[in-house]
Amino acid sequence: MLDVIAGKSGVCDRLDFDEAKYCLSGNSDIWRLGRLADEYRNRLHPPERVTYQVDRNINYTNICTSGCRFCAFSRPPGHPEGWTLSVDELIPKVKENLELGGTGILLQGGHNPDLSISYYIDMLRAIKARFPTIHIHAFSPPEIVAFSKFFSVSTEDVLFRFIEAGLDSLPGGGAEILVEPTRSRIAPGKCTGEEWLDVMRTAHRLGLKTTATMVIGFGECIDERAQHLLKLRELQDETGGFTAFIPWTFQQSKTAMENEVEPLGGLDYLRIQASARLILDNIAHHQVSWVTQGLRLGAVALKFGADDFSSIMIEENVVSSTGAGFTTNEVEMCRIIQASGYNPVKRLTLYQNILHA
Ligand code: SF4
Repeated sequence: MLDVIAGKSGVCDRLDFDEAKYCLSGNSDIWRLGRLADEYRNRLHPPERVTYQVDRNINYTNICTSGCRFCAFSRPPGHPEGWTLSVDELIPKVKENLELGGTGILLQGGHNPDLSISYYIDMLRAIKARFPTIHIHAFSPPEIVAFSKFFSVSTEDVLFRFIEAGLDSLPGGGAEILVEPTRSRIAPGKCTGEEWLDVMRTAHRLGLKTTATMVIGFGECIDERAQHLLKLRELQDETGGFTAFIPWTFQQSKTAMENEVEPLGGLDYLRIQASARLILDNIAHHQVSWVTQGLRLGAVALKFGADDFSSIMIEENVVSSTGAGFTTNEVEMCRIIQASGYNPVKRLTLYQNILHA
C-alpha cells in the first residue's frame, strides 16, 4: 500500500481512511514512511531550513475540576498543593521571557471554578499594556469550554472578550484523542471532541489562528488515531485556521494511568509524526515534541516530516510534573539542528517575520 501512498500528491489526491490506518499501524515500513513524509515536507518548505521559537509556558493555576486520568499537573479545588498566580506574579515572568529573547508566551491552566472572567481579562490587558509586542498564545479549547460554563456565556463570547483584551492565538492543547470511546475513558470531565473542534471552528471564524495536537498511548485503537487526524484535516479544509500540528506520546509516570497501559517508544512517536505529515496534507507546519521525546529523538523526527523544532520553552510545568520533561536553551537547540544538517531559523508564533538565528 505504501506504493499507492507514494504516488499521491497531497491535497488533490489525499490519503483515505484505510490508507491513513495503514500508515498508523505497525504493518507499514517505518523507514519508507519516514522518507515519504520527508519528501512531502521538502515540497512545502526549504529542505535545509528548520524553524524554532523562543517562548515561555506560563501556567496560571494548577487547580482543576476536570480530573483527567492522565494528568500529573493538576490538583482539585481545596487541595493543599493547589496554587494560582496573581497578575503581579505573572508580569515578571513575561518580562524575563522578553529579556531572554522570547517573542511569545503560552498561557494555560487548570479549570479553576474560583476565578472570575475579570481575572483573565485583567491578566491579558495587563500583559499587553506592559509588553505590547508580546504574542499571547493562550487558553486551549477545554479551558474555553470550562470558562463558558463557569461564566454562563457562550464560547464565542468568551473568545470575543479575550480577543478584545489582547488574546492573539489559541494553543491546540487538550485534544489528546478526540474520539470515543477513549476520550471519555481518559478524561470524563473534560470537553468532548466535538466541543474541542467547535471552539477551534469559532476561533478561526473570529480570526484567531490556532495549533492542533494529538497524544497517543492511552490504549486507543488505530481507528481512533486515524479518525482524530481526519477530523483535524476536515476542519482545516473548512477554515484553514491551523498553523501547525504537534503529536507526542503519553507520559504516564505519576498519573492515575501509570502502569495501566503499555508505554510507547521512539518508533511509535516517529510513526505518528510521519503519518500525520502524510495525512494532514493541509497543515503547513509539523513540530517535533522534543520536550517529551528528548532533543535527539526530536532531531530524528526532522527526517520524519517535521519542519519545526517547536520552542525552547523557558519554563514548562505540565510535562515536567510527570518527571519526564526535557529542557534546553537556544544555543543547544541550534547546535542540535545544525548537527542534523539543517539551518536553524528563529520564528515568531504564527511563523511570520522569520528572523535569522
Ligand atoms: S489535563 Fe488540563 S483539564 Fe485535565 S486535569 Fe490536567 S489541567 Fe485539568
